[in-house]
Amino acid sequence: MTKFDTPVVVPQLPWVQTPLVRSSALSKLAGCEVYLKLDLLQPSGSFKSRGVGNLILKSLSSNANRHIYSSSGGNAGLAAVSASVSLGTSCTVCVPTATSEFMKAKIRAAGAASVITHGASWVEADSMTRKLLKADPTGVYCSPFDHPDIWEGNSTIVDECVDQLGGEVPDVMIASVGGGGLFLGLAQGLRRHGGSGKTIVAVETEGAESLAESLKAGKLVTLPGISSIATSLGARTVAEKAFEEAQRSEVRSAVVSDAAAARACVRFADEERMLIEVACGASLAVLYETGLKNVVPELKPDSKVVVVVCGGK
Ligand SMILES: *Cc1c(COP(=O)(O)O)cnc(C)c1O
Repeated sequence: MTKFDTPVVVPQLPWVQTPLVRSSALSKLAGCEVYLKLDLLQPSGSFKSRGVGNLILKSLSSNANRHIYSSSGGNAGLAAVSASVSLGTSCTVCVPTATSEFMKAKIRAAGAASVITHGASWVEADSMTRKLLKADPTGVYCSPFDHPDIWEGNSTIVDECVDQLGGEVPDVMIASVGGGGLFLGLAQGLRRHGGSGKTIVAVETEGAESLAESLKAGKLVTLPGISSIATSLGARTVAEKAFEEAQRSEVRSAVVSDAAAARACVRFADEERMLIEVACGASLAVLYETGLKNVVPELKPDSKVVVVVCGGK
């Protein structure tokens, strides 16, 4: 018998370990050691494969016969379908009318059971999701950002970075914030590695700055609408937990313009030869335009900074 006689079933996680690469251009620019965590290489094209993937994985561990319901502007739905398919279950995605045909086609092509368009924004699409869920006893609700399993899944970014830095915890992590699921994952991961005193830069775009506005007001603020082109950051209210976490002095909130985020995408493509979306460009705009030292003045030449290159769809 050869080793090829028996099919080998490899249990597949819905996410992969992504490379962490040092950028000499960005290190020179920022005056410290800048690394890129390439989560645009996840199966779904964004870090959402981790959090959403973990939520779905956990919900199937108790009962494999489930149908997943995801409400999303795009990336979370794509991650939910991609995870569901790799774990052998089915998934319905509700998106608002604002979601592009391009994205809907991607979600369908990934193997969605159905893609339902409902309402002008995520809030309406989400209420539709919950309605469908109520009618299906096998249904599992998959939030794009607001669940402990999502934060736990996203926290694996930090585990990998620490491992890839030879056991060192990054001094600064930069991430874009929509509803705050990525941010909460980083905070949780840093805490687990004894790095609760390390800095997180939480970046939003003007017109989607629900976290910055909440911090300014000292209470959870709901934006009247989203006017930023960075639709992946378009949560009118961040998770309550994200607001709590962001009040710590180790967290720095930064807001960049849509234009700066878009220019960052172009420059990143030029210099690093990778395509990212505007939501991700926002994090890079802090380095390219705001200046990291203006946000984190205590930065030293040997500080290790990780930018989460969160997605490219
Ligand atoms: C979802 C998403 C974000 C924001 O993540 P939250 O967990 O909602 O804060 C940022 N960038 C990309 C590419 C995303 O898909």
